[in-house]
Amino acid sequence: MTVRHDHWIGGKAAAPAGGSYLPTLDPSTREPGDEIAAGSPVDVDRAVTDAAAAQPQWARRSGAERGELLHRVADVIDAHAAELMELERVATGKIATQLRFEVEQSAAYFRYYAGVVRARHGRTIDLGGGSHTYTRLEPYGVVAAITPWNLPLNQACRALAPALAAGNAVVVKPSELTSISTVRLARLASEAGLPDGLFNVVTGTGPEVGTPLAADPRVGRVTFTGSVATGRHLARIAADRLVPATLELGGKSPLVVFADADLDRAAAAAVSTVATNSGQVCSATTRLLVEASVHDELVARVVAAVERLTPGVDFGPIITEAQYRKVLDFFARTLASGLRPATGGAAYADGPGAKGLYIRPTVYAGVAPHLPVAREEVFGPVLVTLPFEGEDEALALANDSEYGLVGSVWSGDVARGLRLAERIEAGQVAVNGGPLTVETPFGGYKASGYGREKGIEALHEYARVKTVSLSLY
Ligand code: ADP
Repeated sequence: MTVRHDHWIGGKAAAPAGGSYLPTLDPSTREPGDEIAAGSPVDVDRAVTDAAAAQPQWARRSGAERGELLHRVADVIDAHAAELMELERVATGKIATQLRFEVEQSAAYFRYYAGVVRARHGRTIDLGGGSHTYTRLEPYGVVAAITPWNLPLNQACRALAPALAAGNAVVVKPSELTSISTVRLARLASEAGLPDGLFNVVTGTGPEVGTPLAADPRVGRVTFTGSVATGRHLARIAADRLVPATLELGGKSPLVVFADADLDRAAAAAVSTVATNSGQVCSATTRLLVEASVHDELVARVVAAVERLTPGVDFGPIITEAQYRKVLDFFARTLASGLRPATGGAAYADGPGAKGLYIRPTVYAGVAPHLPVAREEVFGPVLVTLPFEGEDEALALANDSEYGLVGSVWSGDVARGLRLAERIEAGQVAVNGGPLTVETPFGGYKASGYGREKGIEALHEYARVKTVSLSLY
């Protein structure tokens, strides 16, 4: 029997004012799943009203008290990890290792900000003996978080934890494809003691819920992860209202491999790019730039390895029929332009991959940098490779993109790795597989957006600085 999931507003389940529900689908089987509330501006209004009512008292609590409650949210995520993983699995078809990572990291966000908020403080500014001047870090009030489908719960927690830690209340609008885990977490958080009204979830479509939420005059800050087009739309709404926004958008990030690199590890990183969420990750390093002398050897290794990947075991499906068609259309367009893939370039005709929305991991080798395949974000399991000669060309190619989210550099010469890290136009660069974690600030340059998630930076992002100055005489 189909279960219907309502919004979570003011610490309670709330049926949609319009009375209708939206279907969901398991992309690994194409079978229908539960239904979610089809939200409307009326539901948004209710959620923002409850958030605005709850927030001032929350902001008055000490960082230690807020942190204590955030620890409890982390604990309930851990205690319900298997259930949350299963909710995410039926919505996305993701493989178990990925699900575990995402749910564990969801808890880690709460633990990290629960601790860090206790070490956060304003400054005193010495203006001489006749005065006392200091800064306060104050919340925005109600934060709107509009989240995508590729790491649903994880990205909700990435926004929720620092926003709540900083003293805000949050209204989350999850993707209509993957809302159920976020609604479930809101209920669990309430049961764990998080005061009513601080963590609200209104489900539904972007135009019916996301737009009115960002436009609500009581919302003090907008945080969004998703496509460039929607990011621009929400940034315009925020600009009209003169409220700040954090936008985490697309990418076509470079993975740069020099001949002196550990080629086994570099090849594994390239394979992971196509396998992880089937390439449906904004930070995927989908342009493999390889020093010409080892290009063919490295590409042969990568192709052999991706051909060994099994759908449903090593990687998951594409999220929707529409996105699946979009990737297949991309293949058809690329073929029509005369470019054949070294491997992949099609869906599965039979076997386990044919049951769901799986696409064969695909590599286009030795492509010219001006081609659409080397420039457009595909959001599927698609890697392009480009040869280069020397450091200058590597850097020019790495930066030859409208995007600037991530860079990955592999070289036996660490100084060279760091030189490139300085000059790559991206919000984060990993040299020889350096980790990027909850602690490391994350965000874009150029069309990949602005603002920073994760790290201490995100905590500052959700607070405004007020200067207080007192004359002592
Ligand atoms: P994708 O194309 O990867 O699905 P979107 O940017 O469309 O990415 O979706 C990311 C989030 O933005 C989802 O929660 C989605 O519902 C929301 N969204 C989409 N369109 C709009 C819109 N017009 N206004 C507000 N939110 C939107």
